[in-house]
Amino acid sequence: MAAIYWRNAATCQRFDGEMWFPAGSDVDTSFARQLCLGCPVRWDCGTVALEAGESEGIWAGYWLKHKREREALERALPGVVARAPHGVCSECGRDYVPNASDTGRCRPCVRGLVPAAPVRDYVGQLHEWLPWRQIAAMSGLSLNTVQSLMNHPREYMSRETADALMSIPPLAVMP
Ligand code: SF4
Ligand SMILES: [Zn+2]
Repeated sequence: MAAIYWRNAATCQRFDGEMWFPAGSDVDTSFARQLCLGCPVRWDCGTVALEAGESEGIWAGYWLKHKREREALERALPGVVARAPHGVCSECGRDYVPNASDTGRCRPCVRGLVPAAPVRDYVGQLHEWLPWRQIAAMSGLSLNTVQSLMNHPREYMSRETADALMSIPPLAVMP
């Protein structure tokens, strides 16, 4: 079920959402839990909570603050596991999976790489007007480098190569 749909169908949408996030750990949560039991999207909700590694609030009728209840939900939804935590690269804004030595940037950015597709598109447009040799000369790159970029598409390329090619002004291709 698509994420947007299940949230719209959630019983708790019609009530004060705070009831599903009780303060403390021994308040009476029976009303919220009862509603969860009859909620049409109960297991979508539980799946989302497990995948996100939630440890607060009541989801699918389980109060995930309590380890015992988290385990009960896991048993009710075998096979659903927490997803790797995602980060947003501070340099390019792409989603990435941080590793132990997280730098806040995705791996291509750390390595000085940029997406190659936009550069390839631009060079393809230039080539409608300019021979490869001239594109190479104007960018200061070797003919080999330019042709290999076009003939062996890769997902990323070095920032220096990209900058060199993108520095050819579009006006240069006007007849
Ligand atoms: S199961 Fe409970 S918390 Fe989850 S959507 Fe339904 S009412 Fe809300
Ligand atoms: Zn990045």
